[in-house]
Amino acid sequence: MKIGFIGLGNMGGPMAANLAAAGHAVAGFDLAAPAPAGVTMVESAAAAATHAAVVITMLPNGAILRAVAKAVIPAMAPGAVLLDCSTVDVASARDVAAWAGAAGLGALDAPVSGGVGGAQAGTLTFMVGGDAAAFATARPLFEVMGQKAVHCGPAGNGQAAKICNNMILGVTMIATCEAFALADKLGLDRQAMFDVVSTSSGQSWSMTSYCPAPGIGPKSPSDNGYKPGFAADLMLKDLRLSQEAATAADADTPMGALAAALYATFVEAEDGAGRDFSAMLPRFEGRGQTSS
Ligand code: NAD
Repeated sequence: MKIGFIGLGNMGGPMAANLAAAGHAVAGFDLAAPAPAGVTMVESAAAAATHAAVVITMLPNGAILRAVAKAVIPAMAPGAVLLDCSTVDVASARDVAAWAGAAGLGALDAPVSGGVGGAQAGTLTFMVGGDAAAFATARPLFEVMGQKAVHCGPAGNGQAAKICNNMILGVTMIATCEAFALADKLGLDRQAMFDVVSTSSGQSWSMTSYCPAPGIGPKSPSDNGYKPGFAADLMLKDLRLSQEAATAADADTPMGALAAALYATFVEAEDGAGRDFSAMLPRFEGRGQTSS
């Protein structure tokens, strides 16, 4: 398949390289990133989109996605599919899909989970919004770049699934970290804490699969000095998107709001920037109730 790929950073680079390695013809464009293996770099986003059956975008935010969409939609062939894999706000995803639809194109929002490791290994999970015909066109590409693609409904629903999932993740990671810090102060051994909670009703992915305590549970960023992994900065981005969506939809999400506020403090006023999001545990360790 002829593919245009715009946004070849930490995630987009390896995703594009995997498509090229699987035999697809990939024309790439990025403002700064180098060419991934097997990708032919071109001079503009529009040039990457011309003649492509699917144009994939993997960009930092909704404003950039809107600007890139405005540049590529007029260049795309009728019937082609615009496939955005970035994590952006639901409103941008729905607007871009409407613009593409008005131009006779298919559109999908397909944010991912799995991080840079998943992008490199081709094991991402895609949460996909958009119509069934566009999903069918993109399915073989999802199979190369990932291990699972869930069709979540119409445009914007992929982003909705992503931010709801990550709102749960942010909240459960904070709960897991503060519980470890409390257990420490109560004299409860961390391994015993893990052995109980990972098989009890306090269990979550944050505890069982990504344990924030070094040396406990399966290997995770806590065993590597909290090097990401999934950076606290990106968790903050996703929590802010969840709160933006909650405001727009008039949904009451008090725990999500608290998690967003705590990650904002951690990243912007403390030492959380560039650390894994599970580094909330060392943050809580040194604190008491009157710590500011
Ligand atoms: P990144 O900053 O490494 O890559 C983004 C790329 O987009 C950069 O190379 C940048 O030069 C390029 N870019 C920016 N504006 C552009 C434009 N106008 N035209 C062309 N290229 C442009 O970011 P990333 O880590 O690859 O993340 C990409 C998206 O994936 C984000 O929406 C992020 O939230 C999401 N995501 C990231 C992870 C992760 O672990 N890194 C996990 C899941 C989802």
